Amino acid sequence: MTDRPIALDLQDIHKNYGSLEVLKGVSLTAYDGDVISILGSSGSGKSTLLRCINLLEKPSAGKIFVGNEELQLTPKKGELTAKNPKQLEKLRSEIGFVFQSFNLWPHKTILENITEAPIHVLGVSKADAIAEGERLLAKVGLLDKKDAYPDNLSGGQRQRVAIARSLAMKPKVLLFDEPTSALDPELVNEVLAVMRELASEGRTMLIVTHEMRFAKEVSTKVVFLHQGRIEEMGTPTEVFENPKSERVKEFMASHR
Ligand code: ADP
Ligand code: MG
Repeated sequence: MTDRPIALDLQDIHKNYGSLEVLKGVSLTAYDGDVISILGSSGSGKSTLLRCINLLEKPSAGKIFVGNEELQLTPKKGELTAKNPKQLEKLRSEIGFVFQSFNLWPHKTILENITEAPIHVLGVSKADAIAEGERLLAKVGLLDKKDAYPDNLSGGQRQRVAIARSLAMKPKVLLFDEPTSALDPELVNEVLAVMRELASEGRTMLIVTHEMRFAKEVSTKVVFLHQGRIEEMGTPTEVFENPKSERVKEFMASHR
């Protein structure tokens, strides 16, 4: 166990799509500084789980805590919705989400893409947002691209911008859903390098990935989902080198 504070706590999360039960009671705790890799075959519920955390998908049941604060939920037609839109907005701003496809605004410059939300959501002054945006672009190695447009960047560069954009909101937790899956193989490492650095800085991250070597190196905890349940959870050494479950053994054997 740990005496670090809890950054994110999911308790018994269920999600149904009609009669299809996609999450069947998932509980997961991330302490400050945890890097949790979520593995599992396609369709096992990994994206749904991440999306339930900030109510991009509405869970059917369960509890969600960000830090010590419980997201207030109320049932409506079989789904849980936010009781208080202001609270949801606040908690969402504390959770950074980096998707497979980066969704940068095509008509804004790289720097504007990063400063937009801090200025308009957090109310940061333009000067401060620009200073912080430039610092973050330098951190992901792209300060020289600040006045370029997304179309002029490679996929790997765009994903690094998307990470910088998330960091600009000063999130407590960062969620990544297969951040390198859409990239050409030669562009994967530059994105993983940025994520590795965030991990080494002690950022709390939940990462859905098929990059096994990366997951093994950076994770404090590895979770294997199967058909909407946690099939196995443990340290990287436990799950990668000594899996108990036959399914995890098979998965590891086919992902070397
Ligand atoms: P993973 O990310 O692990 O590949 P997903 O969370 O995307 O899995 O999907 C889990 C299951 O939920 C799949 O069977 C998928 O078809 C189903 N599913 C996902 N989104 C929807 C939706 N909007 N409506 C109906 N079924 C969905
Ligand atoms: Mg997915």
